[in-house]
Amino acid sequence: MSRIAYVNGRYLPHRAAAVHIEDRGYQFSDGVYEVIAVQQGALVDEGLHLRRLERSLRELRIAEPMAEGSLKTVMREVIRRNRVRDGIIYVQMTRGVAPRDHAFPKNPTTQVVMTARRGKPPSPETVAAGVRVITIPDLRWTRCDIKSVSLLPNVLGKQQAREAGAYEAWQVDRDGNVTEGTSTNAWIVTEAGEVVTRQASEAILNGVTRLAVIKVIEEHQLRLVERPFSVAEAKRAREAFMTSTTAFVLPVVRIDEDAVADGKPGPLTRRLRELYIEHVDAEGRQG
Ligand code: PMP
Repeated sequence: MSRIAYVNGRYLPHRAAAVHIEDRGYQFSDGVYEVIAVQQGALVDEGLHLRRLERSLRELRIAEPMAEGSLKTVMREVIRRNRVRDGIIYVQMTRGVAPRDHAFPKNPTTQVVMTARRGKPPSPETVAAGVRVITIPDLRWTRCDIKSVSLLPNVLGKQQAREAGAYEAWQVDRDGNVTEGTSTNAWIVTEAGEVVTRQASEAILNGVTRLAVIKVIEEHQLRLVERPFSVAEAKRAREAFMTSTTAFVLPVVRIDEDAVADGKPGPLTRRLRELYIEHVDAEGRQG
């Protein structure tokens, strides 16, 4: 299948799709992005992703390139042209093209790029076995709530995980508390049966999957506590898991060299995964 990318108003063959060398995204990582799951051809939690995108742009004072209606139309067209039924769409917006200078250019034109591809969430085997995470120092800036394309610490962290044979790296702040994974939010279940995840703040990206899982927890009268937790507490937890657009709800069964509980995915994690998948299916049917 020939892949199609959207670049500033044009649908181009993937291999011919390019941006200017002085795109500020390229030179300064001066841009933002979203990754949205596509399920049965529909965008999962589109509204939440668009709100977050709008917010990221506003926080960085990057102009919105098009009206929301047009953006939705283009996203659907990119999905259609790539014949994606189940997969993801990637949307990136940068401050524009201008001679290199740190300060904002005078009248920048926001640059928009979109790609879409088929893809599946982690395999049933991976989900059944659970995954291992390592813990690493959080090297990032103090505005992790903005979904900026500046992902160097995340890239280095994920690579470190790969090299350690782990699925993800949980980043740890100076107080010894887990902030989040390099591309996922982090969760534990305590001995008392509380589901714990760090509260939304400038220290983490407020994941759309995180928000959807919080809603599921509330709807099913499970106990949610939004607070930081330490690596030591996570290692003593009854269950642990991570959430993201691409991983959904994924059990964590090992943290560094320590097994979480009996080293198998926990029952509450499995239940939350099922409930979240029901939510994703419902989004697909609505689309
Ligand atoms: N944290 C970080 C740092 C991320 O990059 C992501 C993935 N975008 C997440 C959390 C999970 O967010 P979402 O559920 O919106 O995919």
